[in-house]
Amino acid sequence: MTYLNITEVDSAVTSLATAYPATSELIDLPEPSVEGRAGHALRIGATPAGTHDCAVLIGGVHAREWGSCEILVHFAADLLEAYEAGTGLVYGGTSFTGDQVRKILDELELVVFPLVNPDGRLYSQTVDPMWRKNRDPAQSGGDPDRIGVDINRNYDFLFDFRTAFDPAAAPRVSDDPSDLVYQGPRPFSEPETRNVRWLLDAYPRTRWFIDVHSYSEDMLTVWGDDENQSLDSAQNFLNHVFDHRRGVPGDAYAEYLPKSDADDSKVLAEQFCTGVQGVRGRAYTPMSGFQLYPTCGTSDDYAYSRHRADEHKGKILGFTVEWGDQRGGFHPPWPQMERDVLDVDAGLVQFCVSTLV
Ligand SMILES: [Zn+2]
Repeated sequence: MTYLNITEVDSAVTSLATAYPATSELIDLPEPSVEGRAGHALRIGATPAGTHDCAVLIGGVHAREWGSCEILVHFAADLLEAYEAGTGLVYGGTSFTGDQVRKILDELELVVFPLVNPDGRLYSQTVDPMWRKNRDPAQSGGDPDRIGVDINRNYDFLFDFRTAFDPAAAPRVSDDPSDLVYQGPRPFSEPETRNVRWLLDAYPRTRWFIDVHSYSEDMLTVWGDDENQSLDSAQNFLNHVFDHRRGVPGDAYAEYLPKSDADDSKVLAEQFCTGVQGVRGRAYTPMSGFQLYPTCGTSDDYAYSRHRADEHKGKILGFTVEWGDQRGGFHPPWPQMERDVLDVDAGLVQFCVSTLV
């Protein structure tokens, strides 16, 4: 066994939908990738779509973070197989009962989209292993060094970072197409990013969103632009009074996060880490995105910010997994990657179980 290529990821998703028609359904993403590849997600649940609250899980956003696709394919396969067999799941020292598996599929809806960026993964697996972005040439002017947009900087959250952030802040984002974290010309300029937004719109009962990345053994919660605070609701990303003041640790500005949401996010992140640690002892750290480094335009902040920017949208708690460590880097040898898959899938199942109590 080794890492899946893009054809294999896609056929894994479609095969699961065929093998488990009573508990899964193939979702055709509306937009092909920049190079014309169709995307597929899997809806998992024993009840009709929209019956229960939904968790959306995505991966394969950053091209070089290969194992994210495998983590989500195995997560989906494990749940579907165990539900049909009426068994539990065992991941090393973390295990789940048949009842817990049954409750996940009976009382929750999961949407799993393992490969958001197929063009990038293909390029990373065949040409440049460290490729991160998509393969959009639109802003390159024909220069191959200026191809690609960082999909996880292309969401509509504080996109205009030169206005939003303090000049002394150093958010990890760029408006230069040659940069690794190039944000694109405007929010949602990329079809891959729009596909993720479409999922959140198409499944309006989405309450949780998890974007699977690597590496640093963390479980990140909102916010990414500044520290969190629950006391002053005026200090928020929509309030232009605070433009040019975000992104500096330890100063007067911190991003508003209601205490109940902060508490709920913390509990779920901790539960994820507990599930991971039980497998073989890896200690993942629950923390806010900002504690890793300041960002804007990322998927987890966008998912959570939607209900504050538009009162008609439901509240979604956003998370980013950073699996694996520096030793393994972006492409751990396969036997090590198999252990990382078990770790993260145990964390994800524990996360799902924790949403039900
Ligand atoms: Zn990433």
